[in-house]
Amino acid sequence: MTFLIKKKNIIFKEISKNSIKVLYRLNKLGYKAYLVGGSIRDILLKNIPKDFDISTDATPHELRKIFKNCRLIGRRFIIVHLIFPKEIIEVSTFRTHPNIKKKKKYNSQKKHTNGMLLQDNKYGKIEEDVYRRDITINALYYNIKDFCIYDYVGGLNDIKKKIIRLIGHAETRYREDPVIMLRVIRFSAHLNMNITKKTSEPLERLSHLLKNVPVPRLFNESIKLFCSGYGYQTYKKLKKYSLIQHLLPIIFLNVRKKYQKFSKKIRKEAFKRNDYKILYNSQYNPSFLFSALLWYLLVDTIQKNIEKKKISYDQAYYFSVKKILKKSSALLGIPKNLLIYISKIWSYQKDIENLYFIKKKNIIFFYALELFNLRIIIEKNSNLKKILQQWKIKNKS
Ligand code: ATP
Ligand code: MG
Repeated sequence: MTFLIKKKNIIFKEISKNSIKVLYRLNKLGYKAYLVGGSIRDILLKNIPKDFDISTDATPHELRKIFKNCRLIGRRFIIVHLIFPKEIIEVSTFRTHPNIKKKKKYNSQKKHTNGMLLQDNKYGKIEEDVYRRDITINALYYNIKDFCIYDYVGGLNDIKKKIIRLIGHAETRYREDPVIMLRVIRFSAHLNMNITKKTSEPLERLSHLLKNVPVPRLFNESIKLFCSGYGYQTYKKLKKYSLIQHLLPIIFLNVRKKYQKFSKKIRKEAFKRNDYKILYNSQYNPSFLFSALLWYLLVDTIQKNIEKKKISYDQAYYFSVKKILKKSSALLGIPKNLLIYISKIWSYQKDIENLYFIKKKNIIFFYALELFNLRIIIEKNSNLKKILQQWKIKNKS
């Protein structure tokens, strides 16, 4: 059963001018077009929307003919990006949902053996599109024709009650697209909302499905999860539902007992300090977070290499850094430019320990200094503390 609530309470000035123009243009040509997703949710919650997404019955092919500034992207869902000087508007065509009764339609959607949807590009009506969305608060549609919000799944009520509720059967939805599990956690942490029992129940049980998601998509999602200023809250929730070890498997690799304790402590601190940087540092990049999360794995690998291969510290350091960066790229999808920053933060650790003079003090250096300080605190290491003091004296002159 669907129900529809119209509510005239969106203020025009809160919506980007470009998206209003796109909506009017599509309407004028006889297409249906709505503002949908995060922007409506955020306006209702009195947050500033990050971006404006539009949902329409025009196909990507038709959109390409209408808009010159258009780029088609995606494989699973083909979506259209309209490029404006300071803004990208994402336009998606109404999708239909897998319906067991309509067997023909259902089978035409390609599924992996474990239930994951590989292709989801069957177009439909707004009443079907709503069931392809993830959670109720993200499935509100705003129509500039009548200035009304269209709510088919109780999203308005859930916003009021501060509830994260999945649309449809939770297990099926998670199997079709395991990233939805991460989105549930992200919105719950960022918006400080509770997850309903039916939505949260399968999370732990299905957490292993994350291993089927392509690594670049997981990395993209990781950045949204951890680099929006609510990383520590998000980390705690991901831990609660056993999702974290499937999202960041490399930081849970086995290290010897001594380093296990430090690893656990540095995780907590790294997420907290990273949140602080995002809020108060305009030059932010995520290299500090990953360099800290991987630090004790690096230390452990260096020790193991020295003992096993009977090589010098410098040689072991070189091999271990190379190995861990390679693994980080394969398991976490960390891009190359970020890996370079991470290795630089690590090499500064050695420079400080060797009391080298460091001339160029850029943001990466300050991240390195913070990692050094963090190590002193976590290990309660007075020797490292002395070294840092000596290095500071040397670097003053
Ligand atoms: P943000 O503030 O992070 O942009 P958002 O809700 O706008 O939040 P987007 O990733 O921009 O999130 O997606 C836009 C909309 O598309 C969502 O609100 C949701 O309705 C839908 N959506 C996005 N990803 C998925 C997914 N994996 N499964 C189902 N629906 C999705
Ligand atoms: Mg969005």
